Amino acid sequence: MIKQLVILAGGQGTRLKQVTGDLPKPMAPIGGIPVLEHQVRNAARYGFEEVVFLTSYRSEVIENHFGDGSRWNVKFRYFLDESPLGTAGATFAAMGQLDEQFLLLYGDVMHDVDLRHFAEFHCARQDAAATLFVHPNDHPQDSDLLEMRDDARITCFHGYPHAPASWYRNVVNAGLYALTRQALVSYAGTREKLDFCKDVFPCMVADGRSLYGYSSREYIKDMGTPERLATVNAHYEQGRIQGLNRANPVPAIFLDRDGTLIRHVPFLARAEQVELLAGAALAVRRIHDASYLAVLVTNQPVIARGECSVRELERIHGRMEQLLATEAHTYLDAIYYCPHHPDSGFDGEVPELKIACDCRKPNTGMIRKAAQDLNIDLKRSFMIGDSMRDWKAAIHAGLHPIFVNSGQEDGYSFDDIPAEKVFADLHTAVSHLFPII
Ligand SMILES: [Zn+2]
Repeated sequence: MIKQLVILAGGQGTRLKQVTGDLPKPMAPIGGIPVLEHQVRNAARYGFEEVVFLTSYRSEVIENHFGDGSRWNVKFRYFLDESPLGTAGATFAAMGQLDEQFLLLYGDVMHDVDLRHFAEFHCARQDAAATLFVHPNDHPQDSDLLEMRDDARITCFHGYPHAPASWYRNVVNAGLYALTRQALVSYAGTREKLDFCKDVFPCMVADGRSLYGYSSREYIKDMGTPERLATVNAHYEQGRIQGLNRANPVPAIFLDRDGTLIRHVPFLARAEQVELLAGAALAVRRIHDASYLAVLVTNQPVIARGECSVRELERIHGRMEQLLATEAHTYLDAIYYCPHHPDSGFDGEVPELKIACDCRKPNTGMIRKAAQDLNIDLKRSFMIGDSMRDWKAAIHAGLHPIFVNSGQEDGYSFDDIPAEKVFADLHTAVSHLFPII
């Protein structure tokens, strides 16, 4: 069981100077309380016994504020790093103080994460050298991105800047890790200044070490600029940060892909064919502003038919995510797809995917999986789609169904659907659900 939380608390906060004066960055206030204190409170709440602060700039301000930790019933230790060693360099310098397994958190991120659940995920994987908390953010185009397999193992890091048309998925390291000391030590001292994401983790993956990504919809966001600090403060006042803790069920808007979010192209099989429908990105943003998750559930029989590889499908989804971010600074909380198709006997098909599955809409496998992964309250949730398959999947799963008439699929009618449930497109439907007051 992991009992120790290490916090990288050395940040100066140069970009925050106009708001916080010469306070160290982790002391910037959210709801009147320093970010670092929110972190400490959360560590205490989840039963961590020790917090190690790796300090640098104005360490005395932090030490005077927190003392020995008895106020929170947690033991505090301070480790002063006078020279800037980088995130991993500072951690290696303090290695003598660290347990065999520990959590590490960047001091400039506001979060409300179930740290115990995260730590257990790491401990449950005996080969895990490191586990990274990962999530989509609203600016993947200028973030370091990573790739994971279905079993959550990290296969690749893509540092910013990204090559044109690379279209990586929106999977971003959030600044919270679970680390195994023994797996790290051989990387100490390889350079004077070492960063986890730029130097250490990519080397570990290249060396065949097991790194895992822990995907979560919980809130974790850095507040290193005046704009971000203002945004995080607003989210705190709205209760959005606390509300997203995994213990709390949240409502979601389930979205169909082709004809709902992106333009319908028959048998879409290349990333270059992706085009967001007008207003769709703004609609996704409005879903988040209303404190709902946005979850994509899409049938992709092109995989079973052998017309599109899983790798190309990931590029398609990566491009869609990048377009959402550039158009409206928004993202999808998760994407689920069904690669199956029930009818077999065609040239080029993938026989093992030609099955009657329980995930292909109107079945509810994807919706139920999402509800379990993300703790979604289905009774308060909606499904928006442009086909009867979406409509029926919604009813079967106990969601409120909504029909959009923006798809171009032929061969079905929606005469049976009540007119008040039919909207011209996603933006109109979402504007109806969440009117701007
Ligand atoms: Zn399926």
